[in-house]
Amino acid sequence: MIQSVLSNLGILLLMHLMINTGYYLNQTKKLSNTFMPIFHILIVTLAIISMFHFPIRFSDHLFDLRIAPLIFVSFYHGWRYTVPVLIMASLYRFFLGGETVAHEILFGMILSSILPIILYPQDQNRFHILKPFLVVTAAWLISDLPIIWLMPEGLEIFTEIALVRYLSLLLGSFILYFFIVTGQKHLTLTKQMRYFAERDPLTGLYNMRKFEDAIQKYIPQNKLMYIAMVDIDCFKKINDTFGHQAGDTAIKTVGEIILNNRSKDMFAARYGGDEYILFIAVDHPDQAMATLNKIRKRVASAPLFPHSTYPDFKISLSIGVAQLNAFKNLKEAIDLADRQLYFAKHSGKNQVCS
Ligand code: GH3
Ligand code: MG
Repeated sequence: MIQSVLSNLGILLLMHLMINTGYYLNQTKKLSNTFMPIFHILIVTLAIISMFHFPIRFSDHLFDLRIAPLIFVSFYHGWRYTVPVLIMASLYRFFLGGETVAHEILFGMILSSILPIILYPQDQNRFHILKPFLVVTAAWLISDLPIIWLMPEGLEIFTEIALVRYLSLLLGSFILYFFIVTGQKHLTLTKQMRYFAERDPLTGLYNMRKFEDAIQKYIPQNKLMYIAMVDIDCFKKINDTFGHQAGDTAIKTVGEIILNNRSKDMFAARYGGDEYILFIAVDHPDQAMATLNKIRKRVASAPLFPHSTYPDFKISLSIGVAQLNAFKNLKEAIDLADRQLYFAKHSGKNQVCS
């Protein structure tokens, strides 16, 4: 018996490991958002099907821990994930046949998943340790109590297996719960670490390391690539008039405007201070100029302090542009764009020079 309990636990842990790896790959963009739910559903279904073939034998009775993955997928992901799992696993179980097939599907799979599905949208603190305990207990009762009425000598069978069945289910569920919670924390932590390693903390734009990395990974596809250096005009005036916090807000607002008006193949980083650097890939040079002029005009017309009490203040941007050649010599392009920016500053500001 211990061997078969362990094989069920092994299936649960392998399922968790694969799903967790899937979410990690999804986070690093190696597994698409569209494919991730399909992958998750398939892995849970495969785990349940595997359990059909490794039942736990206890005094002439056979059972397995299929409710555990069903409960956790319902409780943490709702009906959208659970219904496909139920359909596929139930069909498989149906074709395996056997005297108890209908009861197993109805009580042991469908009805025992309903409570966690109902709880899913209402439950804000899904990871509280008591919640899975209560859900597992309720699901076990829904699954196993009908044995008393549906099987000959049902009460005897129920009392004979109840303790082993309930304890093995609790054990499996708590091991799974523990790994899900630590896996979740680990995924959140790596997401945060990646964010802070790649982003400028004030604006949320890329930092230069990530910007250079993104350029190296960009595949041009016969597009023209440009580097634009963007600098806020007379920024010191904001710091001097309203203080450094207002200056920070202004830097943030400009960052938001750049992000909200970016074109398809474009990304932006904070270069430092009141300066930003943009990468734009286009089919025609006019498209790059159009995007940059759109950003420049939005900055000139948008409220600078939309979420705070500072009085409205108008600012503008000067932008210098240089083409980035196919060899992607970023330093040269930055130098050239800087010279164009200098030219824009000295010929009246609030303009794009290329
Ligand atoms: P110009 O039109 O020639 O660009 O004039 P400017 O006043 O914008 O001059 P410049 O770009 O040289 O000014 C940058 C100033 O930005 C200098 C520095 O005190 C300030 N600064 C740099 N980083 C930050 C920051 O993170 N927050 C705030 N509030 N100010 C910053
Ligand atoms: Mg400036």
